[in-house]
Amino acid sequence: MFFGTAEPTPFDLRFNLLGIPVRVHPFFWLFWAMMGWVPRDPGSTAVWVACVFLSILVHEFGHALVLRAQGMDPEVVLHAFGGYASHHNDRRTSTWQRLVMLFAGPGAGFLLYALVRLLWSVPGFREWLSPGQMETQGQMRLLQALGYLQFINLWWGLINLLPVYPLDGGQMARELLRAWNPWRGVEMSLYLSAAVGAAIAGWFFFGPQREHPYTGILFASMAFESFQALQSRRY
Ligand SMILES: [Zn+2]
Repeated sequence: MFFGTAEPTPFDLRFNLLGIPVRVHPFFWLFWAMMGWVPRDPGSTAVWVACVFLSILVHEFGHALVLRAQGMDPEVVLHAFGGYASHHNDRRTSTWQRLVMLFAGPGAGFLLYALVRLLWSVPGFREWLSPGQMETQGQMRLLQALGYLQFINLWWGLINLLPVYPLDGGQMARELLRAWNPWRGVEMSLYLSAAVGAAIAGWFFFGPQREHPYTGILFASMAFESFQALQSRRY
């Protein structure tokens, strides 16, 4: 995922994981708590925010670990909306290396999804977690968390692979089209991004998915940005 950059603030949470520095902007917690707000059940909001945090962290570490393997030294930043894995090296990489790095984000999420599914299929686990009407609070929360983790890592991963900027799929489309046509590839990827983004926005505004207007607004704004980028390239 890549939605702009976030300047450091004094309220950032900073830590190191696997030798890679991580910075979490305060708006990250605020934004996702708002998105998952359940007025009568703050515990459920907390579980949701924890699952989003883990999922986006795993996604960005997919990118970051590949960047490091390619000789960069990456940093992971989570901000209001999503996150990014950046680096300051200007080492040249091949199209193939960039494609692998871009796919590694959603790929890491698919691995986490598979891991949760695997846990689910362990004999007795499902019965232990959900024994009927006798669930404890902890069992209920864990059940909820496993549901969120499956949903986020499967669906956000698939959405992220759509050829729309600035999603990973949009950047993968740019790499592929530029390799195919070095002169017009970037422009073609912007046309593709604007068209697919607009179509998906339409689907979320007018199709059977009408109860998710946020996703429609998100894709409409991504399509508009691709359209603007096309305009500014022309002049
Ligand atoms: Zn990504």
